[in-house]
Amino acid sequence: ERAARDTAPVTPGALADGTPVPLLANLGSADGAAEAIKLGAEGVGLFRTEFLFLDADRAPSVTDQQREYTRLLAAFAGRKVVARVLDAGADKPLSFLNDAPEENPALGLRGIRALRHSEVILREQLTALAAADAATDAELWVMAPMIATVEETRYFTELAKELGIRVAGVMVETPAAALIADRVLAACDFASIGTNDLTQYTMAADRLLGTVANLQSPWHPAVLKLMADVGRAGAELGKPVGICGEAAADPLLAVVLVGLGATSLSMSPSALADVRASLARYRPDDARAIARAALAAEGAAEAKHAAQAAASEIP
Ligand code: PEP
Ligand code: MG
Repeated sequence: ERAARDTAPVTPGALADGTPVPLLANLGSADGAAEAIKLGAEGVGLFRTEFLFLDADRAPSVTDQQREYTRLLAAFAGRKVVARVLDAGADKPLSFLNDAPEENPALGLRGIRALRHSEVILREQLTALAAADAATDAELWVMAPMIATVEETRYFTELAKELGIRVAGVMVETPAAALIADRVLAACDFASIGTNDLTQYTMAADRLLGTVANLQSPWHPAVLKLMADVGRAGAELGKPVGICGEAAADPLLAVVLVGLGATSLSMSPSALADVRASLARYRPDDARAIARAALAAEGAAEAKHAAQAAASEIP
């Protein structure tokens, strides 16, 4: 009986009325793929590719990268995999990329900025990703981290398409990108909100600094408001808006995010079951009402309480 339960297919993420909300996994290498699928991941919403580059004194070859990407994509045949190109910066220095020390690494040459500065690395990574996509049956989407402008969005999507990537989008993790989400989304195929960095930059509170941890909640209405802007822009343009930061792993906040317009949620595989169970309790109108209650609150704690109160009123 136990074996049957372990192998029984997990039902896909959905609201109470059946509206699908694909539940995806955040993965840091291909090693976690089998476990993620077992836990019900319908695909990958954030494949962090940094592991290939860290601790190396030169960038991995296109062939080495292609092998690793193929390994992951093959494990997710027939499913969606969203890969993020290298997100390095002075906090994770790479000798071959950007190793100049900076006083404020979070505000420096990181993500797409660093890749642009060393474009050959970006070109090689996109080439390896496109080759892995062509060699497997997974549906590969590729996104760029730390986008702040429409111009960066265009730069990335044009280069990605030129090198054979079929679906190219951006992470929305700066307030700038969220505030002009309509124009950013018009210049790419999809967005994925990185709530860890979006919270850090909106609240001006270093995500690694314990002394300002009280400010680092994605429940803060300022953060929710930015996410609502992105959700609205996605709905208007008919473009997917996923969530791939830690916020998606909170079962009640996940409902709020869907109410704000998120079309898929990606998280650590261990969080999938609880989020799936939570979403299944609410209809789209319920999710929107819970989101409105949170948005109208004055702070993070109040937003969470308001969402709990609104959720408890739903029969
Ligand atoms: C984020 O910023 O929310 C995110 C998903 O990216 P990372 O945590 O890798 O910065
Ligand atoms: Mg980030």
